[in-house]
Amino acid sequence: MTTTHTAIGYRDNLPATDERALVTEQVPTPEPGPHDLLVRVEAVSVNPVDVKLRSGAPAGGLRVLGFDAAGTVVRVGSEVSLFSEGDEVYYAGSIDRPGTDQQRHVVDERVVGRKPASLSFADAASLPLTAITAWEALFDRLGLTAGSSGTLLVVGATGGVGSILLQLAEALLPGVRVIATASDDERAARVRGLGAEHTVNHRDDLTAQVLALAPAGVDWLFTAYSEGQVATYAEVVAPGGHVVAIDDGPRDVSPLKSRSIAWHWELMFTRPVHQTADLVEQHRLLTRVAELVDAGRVRATTEQVFTPIDAANLREAHRRIESSRTTGKIVLHGW
Ligand code: NDP
Repeated sequence: MTTTHTAIGYRDNLPATDERALVTEQVPTPEPGPHDLLVRVEAVSVNPVDVKLRSGAPAGGLRVLGFDAAGTVVRVGSEVSLFSEGDEVYYAGSIDRPGTDQQRHVVDERVVGRKPASLSFADAASLPLTAITAWEALFDRLGLTAGSSGTLLVVGATGGVGSILLQLAEALLPGVRVIATASDDERAARVRGLGAEHTVNHRDDLTAQVLALAPAGVDWLFTAYSEGQVATYAEVVAPGGHVVAIDDGPRDVSPLKSRSIAWHWELMFTRPVHQTADLVEQHRLLTRVAELVDAGRVRATTEQVFTPIDAANLREAHRRIESSRTTGKIVLHGW
């Protein structure tokens, strides 16, 4: 007899608020492949990439979205070596496989981390994709190291990625002074609580505010919202500095090139996991993040929790993410 489980997915290319856009179905539970874990999903979180993939969904077929999940391993593939049944895990999945918005999910063990022991499933689900993205941005693209000294400007600091990136910078980059964007006083207090030393309001003149704090320009700039901003970045980043952007692009970066500012643009982690150079890189990174969490040096970024994981709550979470106004992460928990 085929075992089935509940999955929530999209059947048509319709707006999230359209009642027909999201359906709940019973689907066959897959057998894990040799390197796979079958996970009982306890919590998921929603990212802007879910919304972007939804609007690009072809009609027909159930498209189950979702990257972030935390749950319990219920079966392991024949060659699994890192995990056993009963282990509690968290991970960000892969674009080339069905998403995490379902009760049972199959994932390659090499992109999975052990859930931080000190966190609930809900809080653990807030972290994986944003932590991986922030880590890659800071350490791989911007090339920051524990010994780096200088100033980092974080644009989009209030969002999901910014909220973990600020904490990683505070925990691991003691010589880096962080300036963060926030659009009002409450949000400014929030980002200071996550490790920013100074705040600027990106709705006002960014150049004047940043140069008042860093007259020679900042050394590094992380941005989650670069549309229409490249010329401003050329003014606020010091010649020879580095910019990394993770939003949709590409952009015309000639203003930066003319000031010898290095530019990396990438909408990260939407590539198939099997194209990554080192498959266990994500496993190692999530293990390191879990250590930081359990040592009390990084906090979950959960801001809103919906219970249970169902179509109505997923629709509402997508609607809020689409507003581009949410702080931290939206998590869905329980079935
Ligand atoms: P969020 O939806 O969590 O960010 C929302 C926050 O960003 C808002 O609270 C708002 O705060 C701030 N914001 C919105 N517009 C601007 C702007 N123009 N300038 C500065 N801040 C702004 O997004 P994420 O952090 O999750 O993702 C941001 C981008 O990065 C998206 O394009 C996403 O696709 C991409 N990305 C995200 C990944 C992830 O792991 N979530 C992975 C890879 C890429 P305020 O009130 O201060 O304006």
